[in-house]
Amino acid sequence: MTATVIDGKAVAASLRGRIETETAKLKAQTGLTPGLATVLVGKDPASEVYVRNKRKTAEALGFNSIHIELPENTSQDELVGKVKALSADKSVHGILVQLPLPKHLNENAVLDALDPAKDVDALTPTNAGLLLSGRAHLVSCTPAGVMLLLKEYVGDIAGKEALVIGRSLLFGKPAAQLLLAANATVTMAHSRSKDLPGLARRADILVAAIGKPEFVKADWIKPGAVVIDVGINRVPAGDGKHKLVGDVAYEEAAQVAGAITPVPGGVGAMTIICLMQNTLIAACA
Ligand code: NAP
Repeated sequence: MTATVIDGKAVAASLRGRIETETAKLKAQTGLTPGLATVLVGKDPASEVYVRNKRKTAEALGFNSIHIELPENTSQDELVGKVKALSADKSVHGILVQLPLPKHLNENAVLDALDPAKDVDALTPTNAGLLLSGRAHLVSCTPAGVMLLLKEYVGDIAGKEALVIGRSLLFGKPAAQLLLAANATVTMAHSRSKDLPGLARRADILVAAIGKPEFVKADWIKPGAVVIDVGINRVPAGDGKHKLVGDVAYEEAAQVAGAITPVPGGVGAMTIICLMQNTLIAACA
């Protein structure tokens, strides 16, 4: 068997088209331009790339893109002050503080300063709680992207066994809630779980968000299962170069799975566009 390749780029492009249309309509009807503020502290190269891509996409969609770059040694008070000022700024509808922050800064204090209505990463306790209550307004971008891919390639997932490996606030926990809300039977696994291969072999939908290159092997996968690979890992590719691989051993897994997301071009392609969707939702609220 060779799996269907789940094309995140194509699904993202179609969502992008809808956001473009909606943004133009919003501007024409109300004069409002969605505004996305990005906050980057320090010089982490991966974070710089992520933020640059988010800003570029926002600008290409005609959003206002406000960028605040702060030095590595920024104090807690200074960062919290910036986030509070953005929260109070009427021209800003979405605020993204790029994580991880330098070690001396407290992420929770920063999230507490963020207006939940502008929390386009859906990381504040308010938005996490609303998701748990089935009343989410803004949903974490990567889990939202995964659900769109499942909708496109699987359709109704009611009654399907879903395993989410990874329980982060950013991905695993919200992803499990969204799968549950779509009536899947959800299991969450993590570093303390016993017999991960055995749990994985039961899954009709296997979602890996671990951060370990090619950790999930072909013999963990139920034949015909849908495999969603969230991992983005930079590994040596020879000649001093690097390549990106996921948390799933793609080549061998594609021989067993029914459908699978590639890395890159799968889940990663959805994240930024879902961030833009959240900014538009926040602007329309
Ligand atoms: P994270 O916060 O580091 O969480 C990793 C999770 O994996 C934890 O829950 C951890 O369990 C679990 N884990 C680690 N080792 C394990 C093992 N041996 N067996 C089972 N579970 C294990 O990571 P994250 O932020 O969720 O990100 C995960 C991956 O997704 C990373 O590669 C990241 O780059 C990628 N990512 C991609 C996107 C995208 O746009 N495509 C977005 C977000 C994240 P414990 O809780 O027990 O420690």
